[in-house]
Amino acid sequence: MKAAIITIGDEILLGQILDTNSRFIARELTRLGAETVEMRSVGDERSEILQALADTFGKADVVIVTGGLGPTKDDITKGALAEFFHTSLEFNPQVYRWLEELFAANPERLNAYNKTQAELPKNCLPLRNRKGTACGMWFEQGGKVVVSLPGVPFETEYLLPEEVLPRLKEKFTDLNLSYHLFTVFNIPEAELAMRLADFEKSLPPDVKLAYLPSPGHVRLRLTARQGNLDTAVRDLRTALGSLHFHEGEQTPDEKVAQQLRKLGKTVACAESCTGGNIAHLITTVPGASAYFLGGVVSYSNEVKKNVLGVKVADLEKYGAVSEAVALQMAQGARRVTGADYAVATTGVAGPDGGTPEKPVGTVWIAVAGPKGTQAKKFLFSHTRERNIGKASATALLWLVEVIQQDSLSI
Ligand code: ATP
Ligand code: MG
Repeated sequence: MKAAIITIGDEILLGQILDTNSRFIARELTRLGAETVEMRSVGDERSEILQALADTFGKADVVIVTGGLGPTKDDITKGALAEFFHTSLEFNPQVYRWLEELFAANPERLNAYNKTQAELPKNCLPLRNRKGTACGMWFEQGGKVVVSLPGVPFETEYLLPEEVLPRLKEKFTDLNLSYHLFTVFNIPEAELAMRLADFEKSLPPDVKLAYLPSPGHVRLRLTARQGNLDTAVRDLRTALGSLHFHEGEQTPDEKVAQQLRKLGKTVACAESCTGGNIAHLITTVPGASAYFLGGVVSYSNEVKKNVLGVKVADLEKYGAVSEAVALQMAQGARRVTGADYAVATTGVAGPDGGTPEKPVGTVWIAVAGPKGTQAKKFLFSHTRERNIGKASATALLWLVEVIQQDSLSI
């Protein structure tokens, strides 16, 4: 099954908002086994919407549209869809009852504007939106489907899995894209590609390998349209050999979350060169409060000393970017917060501040846990952004490793 996504809204084209709906929908469609062949964003302009519908309907079996369903004048998606399907809008009593139920607690808020939300193209199947006033719509024509969803991300994130994906699964039986993800750490994409050149040559034509690089890691995605991926997955494991990698969809922060939740343990951090990025990554996972106690951004020596208890003598003798300081930062964070685990970073993010002994990109990372504290030195890159990204990802992955080892040796 081929899919296309159209997002509607001037704000997207003006650069005022990020089109996160496309990403969410594409990811869900991929999980379902569908192939997204196009994403397009258009403004709140009838002719543009009609053109996008015509183009994508020609090449995809399913077109998912978001945005422009509100009751205001700039919301013109329903009119455009009615025109596309050569029909007109009609008041739908069922949808109006849904609105009444939505406003049951304060019926006075159900005004004339909201009532227009119950006017839908005659040929659509309304999809009940329990999170907002704009209902979703399902259209079918000639074996193809168009779905229209609200622009508000949290409404689309509710409607898609609840009302759309189950219907797609029922209607399209050829949802057979299978994929497998590997994340390989601390190796540049080009070097990895060289190592995997023979493996890639050996792949059958229906199996594809994609490289998805990020700071600190490269994700590899194997996809097969019809066949079985088992052989390719096994061969890729062999080809990766002793490289540091893990399999599955989870990012480092999601892995940390999963492990700490499973074990009922907590974590804290003490960050110098990553400036709070590790805490940020940990807290991007919903529910992080269950295991994340807090962090100290100890950028200055005073904070390292006064808050984390790093010894002045060690700061003077070894400098802030050193094994001794990293170890004490992690221990300090653990002590101050009472967490089971703590990670610490201290390094030279750049672009300035490098010396021959400690060039830009030098980062000491430490992990403290119930069984002790360890520190390792890394040399990342010369750009600040990459250093922060790599140091953060590396620290989280190392934390995952330590927690894993601890849980095995209990
Ligand atoms: P409403 O009933 O709120 O007007 P709507 O279906 O008309 O909903 P829009 O007016 O297009 O939706 O968008 C509402 C808000 O949702 C936008 O201001 C924007 O913040 C967000 N939004 C819209 N489209 C997207 C998108 N593709 N990705 C992320 N956010 C979006
Ligand atoms: Mg709107």
